[in-house]
Amino acid sequence: MATLIQMSYFLAAVLFIFGLKAMSSPKTARKGVMWAGAGMVLAVVVTLFHGDIHGVSNYLLILVAIAIGGGLAWSTAKKVQMTEMPQMVALYNGMGGGSAGAISAVALLEAQRSLAASGHSAIFQQLGVDIAVLAVLGGLIGSVAFSGSLIAWAKLDGRMKRSSLVPAQQVANIVLFAAAVLAGLWVYFSGGVFPIFAFFALALAFGVFMTVPIGGADMPVVISLFNALTGLAVGFEGFVLGNAALIIAGTLVGAAGMLLTHLMAKAMNRPLSNVLFSGFGTQATAAAGPEGEMKEMGAEDAAYLMAYADSVVIVPGYGMAVGQAQHKIWEMVQGLQGRGVEVKFAIHPVAGRMPGHMNVLLAEAGVPYDMIYDMEEINEEFKLTDVALVIGANDVVNPAAKNDEASPIYGMPILDVEDAENVLVIKRGRGTGFSGVENHLFFGDKTKMVFGDAQKVASTMAATVKDL
Ligand code: NDP
Repeated sequence: MATLIQMSYFLAAVLFIFGLKAMSSPKTARKGVMWAGAGMVLAVVVTLFHGDIHGVSNYLLILVAIAIGGGLAWSTAKKVQMTEMPQMVALYNGMGGGSAGAISAVALLEAQRSLAASGHSAIFQQLGVDIAVLAVLGGLIGSVAFSGSLIAWAKLDGRMKRSSLVPAQQVANIVLFAAAVLAGLWVYFSGGVFPIFAFFALALAFGVFMTVPIGGADMPVVISLFNALTGLAVGFEGFVLGNAALIIAGTLVGAAGMLLTHLMAKAMNRPLSNVLFSGFGTQATAAAGPEGEMKEMGAEDAAYLMAYADSVVIVPGYGMAVGQAQHKIWEMVQGLQGRGVEVKFAIHPVAGRMPGHMNVLLAEAGVPYDMIYDMEEINEEFKLTDVALVIGANDVVNPAAKNDEASPIYGMPILDVEDAENVLVIKRGRGTGFSGVENHLFFGDKTKMVFGDAQKVASTMAATVKDL
């Protein structure tokens, strides 16, 4: 029976790995999610049915918990809007970190309870050196990921304000972190119910204090980091429970989360330390305003310009998500294609508020994958493009990232829309993007601003092209 269990865990691990691989392309992502989900169901069922080996008891409680958790997740996931996806990920990730922390707490408290009977005087003697280290580390990391993710969720959901750095914040965070580590050492080398509770309270508090000062728009990077930490904590707790599926799943999540965090930081050309400690995006940057004036164009005229062009490249950004304009944009694109215009979509790796944000929205609207190009693939083509249509994107097309060394976004790779013959920009007003930096592109000679809500402007454009 033990072999069958290990084989099932192996199969689950294979499903996780193939699922993850499939998730790396929008074409196969849906399939990947199904595979990984099937792997998870298999791992859970096997663990439940062979509880004797893993010491599972209280089946009724487990089933009630699965029914409540599964039911809530099912109903909320069905209702969630695409723009609310980052906060949902934050919440689910927090639950993972919390579960890892809870496993650690139970393992440590049980070891504490058996101390007297076994004649040992410290947790590490009771659990064994390796397991005790992993239980304490997993408890620390899981708790930080839990409370930090909840703050990230509250910020993204607009329940907590973006906050700015207070002077002593970083010192307070270091002191809190040091206190949590010391409490962990206390638990490891001696034990006791009070040190265990103090340890978890300090770790949870550190997660909160560490996340509060980070700007709301940096939250996706932070969530990705917490996701990696959750994976690590789950992997550690897998060792504590002797469960191979947990070890593999945790390691995969940890590695994938770390890679994603690295990719996001790289695409913004900001070290992770800058994301975590600078409070970027919490203060508006008072950069010198660009020279010149913005030139306006109505939505109808902009539609005519595109309808009589040979090639159009569309650059979506966060504003398209806010305006939910993807369906109308696709309608307009179909109209343009009907007139023989060649249309492509250009996606910046951090357009929107999470990686893949734009790809998901365009896929939802039915845009075929072969019309969607990554930044490196399309940047050279702007020189040959008649019209670049920027819809609700700002920082990812800001030339300051290339020309202005003093700019906070200097060095961030951007989409070279200014190389196109004409640039149309849809946005509601003259406000800056997430970084708070003015965009010289909007004042350029070739640029026309089409002011208005992304969805309204896209509707007018689609109708105009259709009536031509
Ligand atoms: P930005 O946030 O820079 O700009 C969005 C623009 O959309 C604004 O200028 C805003 O102008 C406009 N807008 C907002 N709502 C609407 C609407 N309803 N209709 C029309 N326009 C609207 O977006 P980008 O996508 O260009 O850049 C993403 C930023 O987020 C980058 O700085 C990136 O570093 C950061 N980021 C991205 C992450 C990711 O993984 N994707 C992670 C963390 C940060 P106005 O208010 O005038 O309408």
